[in-house]
Amino acid sequence: MPYGRRRFSRSDERAYARSNAVTAIRVPPSLLVRVGVAALADALATEDRRRVEVASQQLLDVFCQLLRVPPLRVEVCGKRPTNHYGELHGLYTPANGKTTRDRVQVWMRTARRLQVVAFKTFLRTLLHELCHHLDYEYLKLDRSFHTEGFYRRESSLVYAALPGTPERPTRSTLAPRDSAVAPRDSAAARLLRFARSVTRSEPSS
Ligand SMILES: [Zn+2]
Repeated sequence: MPYGRRRFSRSDERAYARSNAVTAIRVPPSLLVRVGVAALADALATEDRRRVEVASQQLLDVFCQLLRVPPLRVEVCGKRPTNHYGELHGLYTPANGKTTRDRVQVWMRTARRLQVVAFKTFLRTLLHELCHHLDYEYLKLDRSFHTEGFYRRESSLVYAALPGTPERPTRSTLAPRDSAVAPRDSAAARLLRFARSVTRSEPSS
C-alpha cells in the first residue's frame, strides 16, 4: 500500500525520523549467538520444519535476552504464501492485548518449486522480523517503518549473527508493506487480513 508523508501524524514523523537515524543495533558479543546460528544452519539442512522452528526460536530467544527485550513466539511455516506482491518471506504480528506474545512467522519453502530457502536468506528474514520487534521494544517507536535506517539495523543484526557479512542495507526480504506502516494496536488486524488473503490464494499452504 503506497503511503506518503502527508498522511503521517506528527508522532509518525518522529518515529520515521528516529527509525532512519538509528543505523545499528549493537548486540553484546556472545558465544550463544554463534551456537544458535550453527544450530539453525544444521536444522535447515535437515529440511525438518519442527527442528527449524525450535532452532529459530532458540536463536531469537538469545537475541532478545542479550538486548533485554520481551521474547517472541516464532512459527516456522512451509510453503511461502503468494499474492500480487510476490512471495511472503516473513511476518511480524504484534501482540493483541497482554495475553498473547508478539509473533514472528517465517516460511521455509519457496512457493513454486518448494525448495528449502537458502540459509542466509532464511536467517536474514528471521532477523528482519526481529528488527520490527526491536523497533517497538528496544527503540520504543510507536510504529515500525521500512526506512533506510531499518535496513541498516537489519544488516547489523545479520552481522552480529554472521560476522564478515557486509553491513549493507537490503530490501531482499521485504515483508508486506502494511507491517511497516501500521500502528502497533491495529497491525495485528491488518496483517491477519493480509495473511488470510494470501492463504486464500494458496489453499494448499
Ligand atoms: Zn518488514
